[in-house]
Amino acid sequence: MRLSRYFMPILKENPKEAEIVSHRLMLRSGMIRQQSQGIYSWLPLGKRVLDKVNNIVREEQNRSGAIELLMPTLQSAELWQESGRYEAYGKEMLRIKDRQDRPMLYGPTNEEMVTDIFRTYVKSYKDLPLNLYHIQLKFRDEIRPRFGTMRSREFLMKDAYSFDLTKEDAINSYNKMFVAYLRTFDRLGLRAIPMRADTGPIGGNHSHEFIILADTGESEVFSHKDFVNFDIPSADTDFDDVAGLQAIFDKWTSVYAATSEMHDEAAFNAIPEGERLSARGIEVGHIFYFGTKYSEPMGAKVQGPDGKEHAVHMGSYGIGPTRLVPAIIEASHDENGIIWPESVAPFDAIIINMKAGDEACDSACETLYAALTKAGKDVLYDDRDERAGTKFATADLIGVPKQIIVGPRSIANGEVEVKDRKTGERQTITVDAAINQLAG
Ligand code: ATP
Ligand code: MG
Repeated sequence: MRLSRYFMPILKENPKEAEIVSHRLMLRSGMIRQQSQGIYSWLPLGKRVLDKVNNIVREEQNRSGAIELLMPTLQSAELWQESGRYEAYGKEMLRIKDRQDRPMLYGPTNEEMVTDIFRTYVKSYKDLPLNLYHIQLKFRDEIRPRFGTMRSREFLMKDAYSFDLTKEDAINSYNKMFVAYLRTFDRLGLRAIPMRADTGPIGGNHSHEFIILADTGESEVFSHKDFVNFDIPSADTDFDDVAGLQAIFDKWTSVYAATSEMHDEAAFNAIPEGERLSARGIEVGHIFYFGTKYSEPMGAKVQGPDGKEHAVHMGSYGIGPTRLVPAIIEASHDENGIIWPESVAPFDAIIINMKAGDEACDSACETLYAALTKAGKDVLYDDRDERAGTKFATADLIGVPKQIIVGPRSIANGEVEVKDRKTGERQTITVDAAINQLAG
């Protein structure tokens, strides 16, 4: 992508409405634009990052055996009347009427709809387990949308729903998601801690919020420091190995971790003082086993091996991609801008032409751009007629992992400078060496 032909509206001034660093940097780098309170457009640079996040989420859901579909944003109120949540949900639900005066709503979540799909088609325990997910916009009329897409009214959620014959099977489905979540957040460059969350009337130990530590987080969290060193389950984890998954769950829930709602002062104080972690955090995911709460009233039943009908045991599993993008920035930035982990960076490298119009600079930039693009890399080429200082500031602000700086003095020796955005390390190497290094 040539920057002169791209759409990346960088702001020079710090937007005053932004209270936290991620919101400020997302606005300044032209990633998002607020359209009305808590409702955002994702501009091209932001959309690239969001797509990368979604793809990692999707790959890990698929790896665990979950199956993707796509349900609509608008739902009929009837389904929610069946489950009893139409009245119960309150003002966070945006209620709409269509031209026939039928009550509709913009879905805040999809338990009812997915249960309806399930009951229509699945009749036998032989078709279980089943886990269906989608990545779709949600709307919740939050009382206090803030911090940009961190807490918005319209937001993207990956929501998965598992169906099993028994509670025991449902716990195994829960463990699959638990492991998939550990892997997902790790691939996004984040260390997320699973913390016990409220299960309400269902009870048990099967609701966890995945929390990222950040000073600007809205949740108060308490945990053991050991989490920082736990190993992430590998890519070849066997998701058919029931005992193996259980062992991972047991390990990751063996030490104390809770948000303020579930905090147990005595249990926390039992941890040696130097190993206690009391901090603020951002909830990026939530997994929940809720038994037959929806399947019972909505008649989602299957025939069991005993020949009888059984309401299925369900769980739901959410991740917020549009919250994850700012959460990653909160965890990875410096005073000059964003530092993207490679896995979600909008571009792999940026070529900075320090003197656009200079024949040697232009030609080296074109060579680099063509070779890296051919190698399948996402490259942004800053070919604008701007001062070098402006270009350096832009490159640092948008946080692309590698910068290739092409200036008249070094190109006279056939050399360019490669700067690592994260470490600040600079190397002066030939154009060919730069291509070899970055194309790999
Ligand atoms: P919170 O406690 O932050 O309000 P929640 O508990 O209501 O969130 P869930 O229903 O568990 O959220 O939703 C699953 C995931 O969706 C959350 O973990 C979060 O990543 C994301 N999410 C929820 N609400 C929002 C929002 N208003 N803006 C952006 N992402 C959200
Ligand atoms: Mg939650």
